[in-house]
Amino acid sequence: MKITEHLYKTSGVEYGTNSNTFVVDCGDGLVFLDAGYQQIQWDAMQASLRHWGLDGKPVTHAFITHGHFDHAGNVYRLNAMGTKIIMADPDAYKMEHGHPEMEQLFGAKWITGTVDQRPSDGEVFTFGNGVRITAIAAPGHSDGSFAYVIEVDGHKALCTGDMYYIVPHPPEDAVDLEIAYMGSWDFSMEKFTSTLEKMGTLGCDILLPGHYYVYYGDIDELSRRAVKTLEELRSTEPKKA
Ligand SMILES: [Zn+2]
Repeated sequence: MKITEHLYKTSGVEYGTNSNTFVVDCGDGLVFLDAGYQQIQWDAMQASLRHWGLDGKPVTHAFITHGHFDHAGNVYRLNAMGTKIIMADPDAYKMEHGHPEMEQLFGAKWITGTVDQRPSDGEVFTFGNGVRITAIAAPGHSDGSFAYVIEVDGHKALCTGDMYYIVPHPPEDAVDLEIAYMGSWDFSMEKFTSTLEKMGTLGCDILLPGHYYVYYGDIDELSRRAVKTLEELRSTEPKKA
């Protein structure tokens, strides 16, 4: 699915896969956002690249939002292609050394991969076609989660990984926000809340979430709604005696 002239969605619900992956066409090479999980998603990603005539270009870099199976499970395949993997600790450490939490949750073996660079908060990467990617520390869902702001074709797209999603809201002709999984072993409500607050200040106009649909609009407003939703969730939590 083409999002802007040089930004594409290469897997996700529209392609019969659970999580989303994206690619930026930087002229001589491609940049991936997340790697997906297992052969079926890898095949969907490759089919999408073929569809858009991008399959002849090398995948030079892959920015990974976090170290969960459905986003990082295919990192080892990118390693085999010589792609430079950008991913933050402690998720990067788990990528390289094993991830018992994921093996328990998904009932599958974690295949380790190599991380080439740990990004720092605010670090900027520049590519061809005027593409600029800023790494933003976004802990909460997992402690090493990072978001990436992609400046491309005059837009600012926010790749969030697992933070919040846009879902249909029948019967009204509207959409709803769904907050991401909060059961990770290293989940932190405090960090998650400040991350969502930070997302509300970035001035992005396209949301590239880790699951479900791409959303065009005021992402700052959407992020502030997510903070509110989180506050409501927290206030309805049963208080411990
Ligand atoms: Zn996740």
